[in-house]
Amino acid sequence: QTPVPSDIEISLAQTPKPITQLATEIGVLPGELEPYGPHKAKVDLRVLKRLAHRKNGKYVVIAGITPTPLGEGKSTTTIGLAQALGAHLGRPAFACVRQPSQGPTFGIKGGAAGGGYSQVIPMDEFNLHLTGDIHAVTAANNLLAAALDARIFHEATQTDKQLYSRLVPTVKGRREFAPLMLKRLQKLGIDKTDPNSLTPEEINRFARLDVDKSTITWNRVLDTNDRFLRKITIGQAPTEKGHERSAEFDIAVASEVMAVLALTTDLNDMRARLGSMVVATSTRGKPITADDIGVGGALAVLMKDAIKPNLMQTLEGTPVFVHAGPFANIAHGNSSVLADRVALKLAGTEEGDEPDRAGYVLTESGFGADMGMEKFCNIKCRVSGLKPDAVVVVATTRALKMHGGGPDVTPGKPLADTYTKEDLVTLREGTKNLVKHIENARKFGLKVVVAINRFSSDTLAELDLVRELALAGGADAAVVSNHWAEGGAGAKELAEALVAACEGESQFRFLYELEQPIEKKIEIICKDVYGADGIELSELAQKQIETYTQQGYGNLPICMAKTQYSFSHDPKLKGVPAGFTVPIRAVRLSAGAGFLYPLLGDMQTMPGLGTRPGFWEVGLDPDTGRVVGLF
Ligand code: ADP
Repeated sequence: QTPVPSDIEISLAQTPKPITQLATEIGVLPGELEPYGPHKAKVDLRVLKRLAHRKNGKYVVIAGITPTPLGEGKSTTTIGLAQALGAHLGRPAFACVRQPSQGPTFGIKGGAAGGGYSQVIPMDEFNLHLTGDIHAVTAANNLLAAALDARIFHEATQTDKQLYSRLVPTVKGRREFAPLMLKRLQKLGIDKTDPNSLTPEEINRFARLDVDKSTITWNRVLDTNDRFLRKITIGQAPTEKGHERSAEFDIAVASEVMAVLALTTDLNDMRARLGSMVVATSTRGKPITADDIGVGGALAVLMKDAIKPNLMQTLEGTPVFVHAGPFANIAHGNSSVLADRVALKLAGTEEGDEPDRAGYVLTESGFGADMGMEKFCNIKCRVSGLKPDAVVVVATTRALKMHGGGPDVTPGKPLADTYTKEDLVTLREGTKNLVKHIENARKFGLKVVVAINRFSSDTLAELDLVRELALAGGADAAVVSNHWAEGGAGAKELAEALVAACEGESQFRFLYELEQPIEKKIEIICKDVYGADGIELSELAQKQIETYTQQGYGNLPICMAKTQYSFSHDPKLKGVPAGFTVPIRAVRLSAGAGFLYPLLGDMQTMPGLGTRPGFWEVGLDPDTGRVVGLF
């Protein structure tokens, strides 16, 4: 249709098929499906065991050029391509995307379900509670926060003996250690299992975590843009007198629990990761974990359903896995390893199958390829052991013109002329940004397909220019795609190019080795991916690197916390900046998720609401009861 109707109109005009029907079509057995209403379901991880013998389908990461604040259509392209492959080329095709946070949904208007005729439906369910995974993350995160503060409180008000007799009470004349306590004793080097045999010195060490309150890194979380919770004082009731402390809230998707959900590989692995999350340092300089506080098992219980990927569908009835939504700056910003694995098996081939039966898994990575794709390759693929076959780099003439010197693009403001009229000079200059992303992708050994996401104001000469420069810059293919306006039919040519690029064995490689020193790993990313001259560590960062190395965390991968608006640390440097040194302000540890994250600037972990948030439009239609105004 022209003009293309609004996203919600398109979404509501399509009736989704029953999720049980979709499950049958993709080969999920009834016993492996847990429907949550008619249009979404969780898929049990048992499917992985049943299909373990299959050869995985083709694995494609969808990344983008350095974006404008309006987004360049990565989600839309992921869905459009899945529709083209699945509904038009007859290949099994799965899209894997992140679950959106309610913060942006009610804050700034903007689609996370794709857009136009390339969307996940029903988009209201996709954008809101889905199956409750974010609520589970919130519950787990906050149980740990509550447990930590309660423990500090009790340690402050009791003697060693009192603490010990409450932690290890006498039941029917006998004391018994809870299983997690035995683990803690082991860690302390106390080789005893009889609770009555501990010396007073051992009781002291066992019963006291001795949290150094100034080192607490565990914040509370909420899935709301609530700026007034950025810094608060807790413990003001008379019952906690004397224990007031300053504390912080983050948005739920910034929780390490969310990062764990995205990177975990099975239930036992998730249990271990949750237990090893570090919340603070003791006054003796030792890291304090969730298991030290005794809460690791309970966290796993809260997360046991969230670990199962959620199945939904595109407008054209092809499958979509929606799972996990870690922040893309302080975490790795990719959907879950498990959803990708399940999709790759469902898209996989059995012995005797024609090789061209293999399906495609399209997994989206957040922000520009310097952020999402780099972390996808160096962190997510390292954890999963999966080898991607190709990357699709999504580009728009709008963002490229901005990199070529066009004025800033601001949400809610009309676009300058250069963006709505033909301007080949600015576009040619800006396409250098795309070429740098192509070169980076090739460093990982990936085949590169450039998707030029077509906007109605693009001219043929502009689209030709981008295509020509992308090919000259090393892309294996560069195709104009019109899936936003036409759905899967508009991305057929792109899908065909992707199929061709995925032929043969993957040549994927990492950019650094885990055994390299922390500083070296950071430097490799900054020089090779960002184009920096080098890095400059603050004194604090240097000290933290020493501490983590000593504590045995030196072999973790690196998760850069950087602006998405530039290759560099400075959002104002557009195009392909050169001659800059990256300042590393601090380095933090996510021991459970399994990475170190250097901070390159001020990182906002709790967004705020503007004067005119998106929620003004949102409501229920009085006649149908349907959600209106989401986008
Ligand atoms: P990203 O994933 O890169 O952030 P999205 O796919 O979410 O970007 O797209 C951002 C917004 O732009 C969405 O509202 C989407 O509907 C819109 N959009 C994407 N592609 C086009 C296009 N070709 N023409 C018009 N609008 C588009």
